[in-house]
Amino acid sequence: MNKYIQAFYDSFINTLNWTWNSIVFEIPWYTNYFWGLIVISLVVWFLEIAFPWRKNQAIFRKDFWLDAFYMFFNFFIFSIVISGVYTVMQLGFKDLGISMKSLALIDISVWPMWLQLLTFFIVLDFVQWLTHVMLHRFEVLWRFHQVHHSVKEMGFAAHLRYHWMENILYKPLKVFGVMILGGFEPEQAYIVHFTAIAIGHFNHSNIKITWGPLKYIFNNPVMHLYHHAYALPKDRNYGVNFGISLSVWDYLFKTNYIPEESGTIELGYKGDEQMPKNFWRQLTYGFFSSKK
Ligand SMILES: [Zn+2]
Ligand SMILES: [Zn+2]
Repeated sequence: MNKYIQAFYDSFINTLNWTWNSIVFEIPWYTNYFWGLIVISLVVWFLEIAFPWRKNQAIFRKDFWLDAFYMFFNFFIFSIVISGVYTVMQLGFKDLGISMKSLALIDISVWPMWLQLLTFFIVLDFVQWLTHVMLHRFEVLWRFHQVHHSVKEMGFAAHLRYHWMENILYKPLKVFGVMILGGFEPEQAYIVHFTAIAIGHFNHSNIKITWGPLKYIFNNPVMHLYHHAYALPKDRNYGVNFGISLSVWDYLFKTNYIPEESGTIELGYKGDEQMPKNFWRQLTYGFFSSKK
């Protein structure tokens, strides 16, 4: 038992140290998610200001600071809090004879790096698309996901406004994806992670990007704005455009929907007026029935 407590403590301290070392630049720059997130955010924000899609939207739109806080909470504060839990779980599975390598279907480590990264990116994006569909499909999960859908004015920072439970709900299939690919992240996986952050920021930004014919592969702000639409088409009660970085899954599974591109639709969901306005009350939102 003692080793579990020790592992929990070590993991917590290590993640805390890693985060601090990121802030003070004492880790390799390409693994620095702290400053990486800030740089990507500033670039996308600047582009939003220079080339706005909805020209009358304020630079500091509704809930801008709430969303900015969520970015750091979900990426860093929550990671520190949860790291010990994940380490203890991993140790528990190991004691049961289950390791990250247990489900390996293929060994991608012998492939060229670019192919490893591309496969990693596509598989991870697909399992997240599937998780996202389930967040909309099941009422118990949807209540947590409502936090992300409570955005009423869209901008880049809304990307990371989501309930901390989503970090946990996305985890099983992400781990599964890594396991079937051989149980490890490619050495340069940071390229995939930074790309995903940048695409996610753009998808929520107030910039009209459609990628031309590439729209069938890449998700984009026009497509994702309709994911946040208040009014859904009659036959699509659970939602449309579930794509994370790639749009191809929505086209393949016929969950795509972009009727027009004005960017002026109402956002939210039926009942969104009941979402608590402040962060601390949103923290516990979703655990208790919210029936009217
Ligand atoms: Zn959603
Ligand atoms: Zn979104």
